[in-house]
Amino acid sequence: MKPRDRLRIATQKSGRLSQPGRELLTRSGLSFRESRDRLFCFGETLPIDLLLVRDDDIPGLIAEGTCDLGFVGRNVLEELRLGELRAGRVPAFAELRALGFGQCRLSIALPQEQAWNGPQTLAGLRIATSYPNLLADWLEKNGVEAEVVTLSGSVEIAPRLGKAEAICDLVSSGATLAANQLREVAVIFESEAVLVGPSTAFVDERIALADLLLRRLDGVLKVRD
Ligand code: ATP
Ligand code: ZN
Repeated sequence: MKPRDRLRIATQKSGRLSQPGRELLTRSGLSFRESRDRLFCFGETLPIDLLLVRDDDIPGLIAEGTCDLGFVGRNVLEELRLGELRAGRVPAFAELRALGFGQCRLSIALPQEQAWNGPQTLAGLRIATSYPNLLADWLEKNGVEAEVVTLSGSVEIAPRLGKAEAICDLVSSGATLAANQLREVAVIFESEAVLVGPSTAFVDERIALADLLLRRLDGVLKVRD
């Protein structure tokens, strides 16, 4: 790959992680000029640019070397990491820092009237989720045989549509679950936004740039504690 003298960070274009991610960078002393199509932000104070993308694409962009670092939910990262391991591959990305925003949990929820007597309650049921690897991993660890129904969105309406008897979805306040007459019964994974980077070391000018950025982020994150 060609040597690069600028660092490229992948961040979510629009969503829950966009604003807090930008704030963290601003507090770290970085400022940007947005391109007209709003997909790229040119770093003005440091040679560190942003690529604005869908969060799900971030680990892949790092793995293929298109971006050097990224801000993404640990839930997305772990789901893809488990997928790589299941496929017999070594993940080419790794979590470098927890960023202290975007907190949520991946939880099992049941229709409100249904009783919960521990993980075995799920035996033989269909569970809808966008996180099939995390769910399968948890079911396996708990010795539960259930059917994982993978949906890319609107997981919370799956029980009402007759597609599943339970769901496994991200929860923060619990308002979405309540609005869909669902009850959170077990947390299977705790998440927050993390800084993701390659599992191998940086080369060229990016070594010093990544080092500088990490020190700045650590300074800001420490103040927050
Ligand atoms: P896109 O794929 O278009 O970038 P998205 O719909 O996958 O967007 P968001 O809903 O913005 O993304 O969620 C991004 C991340 O925010 C999640 O992966 C998760 O880490 C975090 N998050 C925090 N609270 C919640 C919540 N209540 N529901 C969903 N995600 C949450
Ligand atoms: Zn997404």
